[in-house]
Amino acid sequence: MKLIKELNIDNKKVIIRCDFNVPMKDGKIVDDTRIKGALETINYCLEKNCKIILLSHLGRVKEESDLEKNNLLPVANRLSELLNKPVLFCEKTRGQELDSLVKNMKEKDIVLIQNTRYEDLDGKKESGNDNELAKYWASLGDVFINDAFGTIHRAHASNVGIARCLPSAAGFLVEKEINALKILDNPERPYIVILGGAKVSDKIGVIENLVKKADKILIGGGMAFTFLKASGKEIGKSILDEENIDFCKSILENNQDKIILPIDCAVTTEYSEEEPYKLKDISDISKDEMGLDIGEKTTQLFKDILKNAGIVVWNGPLGVYEFEKYIKNTNEILKFLVENNIKTILGGGDIVAASEKLGYKEKIFHASTGGGATLEYLEGKKLPGLEALETSK
Ligand code: AMP
Repeated sequence: MKLIKELNIDNKKVIIRCDFNVPMKDGKIVDDTRIKGALETINYCLEKNCKIILLSHLGRVKEESDLEKNNLLPVANRLSELLNKPVLFCEKTRGQELDSLVKNMKEKDIVLIQNTRYEDLDGKKESGNDNELAKYWASLGDVFINDAFGTIHRAHASNVGIARCLPSAAGFLVEKEINALKILDNPERPYIVILGGAKVSDKIGVIENLVKKADKILIGGGMAFTFLKASGKEIGKSILDEENIDFCKSILENNQDKIILPIDCAVTTEYSEEEPYKLKDISDISKDEMGLDIGEKTTQLFKDILKNAGIVVWNGPLGVYEFEKYIKNTNEILKFLVENNIKTILGGGDIVAASEKLGYKEKIFHASTGGGATLEYLEGKKLPGLEALETSK
């Protein structure tokens, strides 16, 4: 993978694929973390006197009515505030207006092009990696920087397509994310994985791949109940992934020493914040109860295993972390990992959101910004955005 520092970008027109896919509500940005994540690369290009052309997607565009809510204009405004300089916004993804904006750019000018997925309305040109579209975007610049880790597992025109047409490299955010994940290719042992979250079905590929590589897999969250059911336990009304009971059975049979399941949990009779809960041993769950968090004994068991870890990868919260009561043990384990300086990679999505809510995100070794991309890496899949950088001009 070529890095931005290895590419001569001085005074050039640089196209940067950013991940500005920020959460929006009523046309306002709810969280600008992703915009801030792009600043290092943008500032570096400013130092090198580049003309900077930014591309990003925002949400999904399937029909006309998706256009307005996924307009990137608010991102241009926020970016301009953060950089303390104007960011020119082009309402269109191609055409005369964009061509002339780009043609008239001066050193250190920044242009943000409209949401790349506007092109999906006309035959999925962005998501289908349309060659003509990629060539057109590439024609606007001299070099290409991919700094959108969140879409690195996708082969779209704005990342893979452009990289095929121009000298290309990874931006600082992609470099940081990939370097953290690469540690897992040759992990310090014991390599311990914590898996939580709602369903087994979302993580089959991850489980199959990690069971070969990790030394222990600690399972919590909703998915633990399908494993517990597969091992013959009564799980009451806890979330169950019926179709995957056999899958869990075979994973358990073939990896008896590796898979660690909860021994107790917080149970209640209703999925709500208000209903009181009890701590129960796993064998004592009754038919009308559901488990919404791991219990204290399980937390202690997990800590005993984690204390010797060489590296920990964690995907998915151990309980219904959206409810204050059931975030407790996800919190306990995060705190333990931080206080004991245990090298930990949080694998994107909900566990990163939980770590942020609890104030641990900045203290952990690495909290990945791309949920889907990290999961695919953990599944052992190749990441097309990365491969395109490896094979570019
Ligand atoms: P995922 O996107 O697969 O990481 O799943 C995250 C979701 O799992 C969160 O919304 C949690 O509320 C949910 N979750 C965690 N533990 C449980 C549980 N015991 N029962 C039901 N849902 C859970």
